Amino acid sequence: MIVMGIESSCDETGVGIVDWDGEGVTLLADEVASSVDEHARYGGVVPEVASRAHLQAIVPTMTRAREAAGIDRPDAIAVTIGPGLAGALLVGVAAAKAYALAWDVPLYAVNHLGGHIAADTLEHGPMPPAVALLVSGGHTHLLGVENLSQPIVEMGTTVDDAAGEAFDKVARLLDLGYPGGPALDAIARDGDPEAIAFPRGMTGPRDAPYDFSFSGLKTAVARHVEKRVRAGLPVSVPNVAASFQEAVADVLTAKALRACADRGVDTLVLGGGATANSRIRSLAIERTAAAGIDLRVPKPRLCTDNGVMVASLGAHVIAGGAPPSPLTVATDPGMSVQISKL
Ligand code: ATP
Ligand code: MG
Ligand code: FE
Repeated sequence: MIVMGIESSCDETGVGIVDWDGEGVTLLADEVASSVDEHARYGGVVPEVASRAHLQAIVPTMTRAREAAGIDRPDAIAVTIGPGLAGALLVGVAAAKAYALAWDVPLYAVNHLGGHIAADTLEHGPMPPAVALLVSGGHTHLLGVENLSQPIVEMGTTVDDAAGEAFDKVARLLDLGYPGGPALDAIARDGDPEAIAFPRGMTGPRDAPYDFSFSGLKTAVARHVEKRVRAGLPVSVPNVAASFQEAVADVLTAKALRACADRGVDTLVLGGGATANSRIRSLAIERTAAAGIDLRVPKPRLCTDNGVMVASLGAHVIAGGAPPSPLTVATDPGMSVQISKL
């Protein structure tokens, strides 16, 4: 069964095609067009700009994916209906409906966050019961996964900024450009992660065990910089970057490990663009190894938004026996975690 996945929830127009052989998925095509450069001068994703870019990119990206896979039409189409930007989602969903109707193939509306988890199966095969830590520019979630055709449990999320957003905001404060995560990661290599003791948000005994908060940390970085500048002291950008990054990586991985222990699972899956961060990766490797937990981290290309993750989730949902979505299915920008919308 050949499944096409369409993704347009943020600033990537993704069309992926997979083959489901009854047990797992094989990647046939993975085409992504990103509008990230168009957002750079605004310092963040501009929804209207993203929607227009999706409109321009959607048909060419679909054509490229079909050519790459060497197919005329798939057996089913899966599409992200949420969570994401309302106008951006509409473009992918409208395209999915139009093609499903024209090709007379079933449509499956799926959840973007579930897609991030399903991305891992393309690289590491079928997914055992696991905890997933998703960290990107728009999301920070700890999720419990029984199996990819069942509803996903949300264990915790951020109460304010997403982890990637915190990287971008702190990078901006340090004049490192946008998106600042990769630049901050690079400069942190020259710094001392223990130079400044930045706060670890939401780690008190009364705090929700799996929730995150990064806005206090961001403010603490701003205060630190302001104070030094006011006192006429130099600011070590590498030390600030390394200490900030350490605080984020520490909280994310500590809570992910605790979630694994509490759910009684021995697999942790990482997903989302911010998992490219070298310290989040190294600390996750260190701590899962110490706890005897199997760590699954897809390659960066599969961690950021793409269509093939949507196709993979769609294939699992179809294999689980879910009925197709009606062609009237609506986008759901604030969609909570659940695997498919029926
Ligand atoms: P969504 O939230 O819908 O999944 P997004 O476009 O906001 O999508 P991604 O494209 O998955 O997010 O990831 C981009 C984010 O990841 C940005 O915030 C970026 O700064 C961050 N990021 C990328 N590389 C690194 C890195 N090496 N260190 C820290 N953050 C990084
Ligand atoms: Mg993106
Ligand atoms: Fe995403």
